[in-house]
Amino acid sequence: MASIHIDQVSKIYDGGVHAVKAIDIEIGDGEFIVLVGPSGCGKSTLLRMVAGLETISEGTVRIDDHIVNQMEPADRDIAMVFQNYALYPHMTVYDNLAYGLKNRKTPKAEIEARVAEAARMLEIEPYLKRKPRALSGGQRQRVAMGRAIVRKPAAFLFDEPLSNLDAKLRVTMRGEIRRLQRRLGTTALYVTHDQLEAMTLADRLVVLNAGRIEQIGTPLEVYRNP
Ligand code: ADP
Ligand code: ADP
Repeated sequence: MASIHIDQVSKIYDGGVHAVKAIDIEIGDGEFIVLVGPSGCGKSTLLRMVAGLETISEGTVRIDDHIVNQMEPADRDIAMVFQNYALYPHMTVYDNLAYGLKNRKTPKAEIEARVAEAARMLEIEPYLKRKPRALSGGQRQRVAMGRAIVRKPAAFLFDEPLSNLDAKLRVTMRGEIRRLQRRLGTTALYVTHDQLEAMTLADRLVVLNAGRIEQIGTPLEVYRNP
């Protein structure tokens, strides 16, 4: 678990697009925050700055007491789940789950235990020897979730993780993500353009528009004051 402090953070891309404008968000330990808003409002840019996949033009991002502005993604104790799953196609499900831990020189027995636990939680044990191409979209997204949870990160960052799934599976996976996050107590920052998804998942919503915060509050607070 961790708290995330986004303090006066801005992003100006090379070429001059001002994608994120002086944003402040305080995310508490174990909180589930959803960034929502129309395409191009800066959601993904903000998430990627927290992840370390994009440089921060102005302001600071802190995870607990660590200023992460200059830290490499791998040093930030976070795990990201992407829309396109970002699985390694030539590796089995097991190796996809184990990869991040192997890179961090985790002992083999510990890797096996963590992969087994994640596979059990996500009900993907039958597929551990398969390659991603032999899985359905929902199964692939479970593997992507598994890759995030084996790391036992302080925070999960989700970038539209369900957008490639059909409507029925989106609803199912939404519930699974929220149950897992509650069970693990891991702080979450989740990006979506889908308002219903945002309302269903969030402890608090951050509604962005043109790089600025338009509203911030619980789903009920935001819904009452549209
Ligand atoms: P969202 O995730 O809400 O759709 P983005 O963060 O992707 O929004 O984009 C915010 C703004 O920044 C948009 O105007 C987009 O065109 C611009 N943008 C995104 N990525 C880049 C980039 N790599 N270079 C220049 N402009 C970008
Ligand atoms: P993992 O296999 O769990 O993703 P890595 O060591 O490969 O672990 O990744 C380290 C960091 O790099 C992650 O915390 C994440 O922020 C980022 N990352 C992971 N996968 C990708 C990807 N496909 N593209 C860009 N960044 C990624």
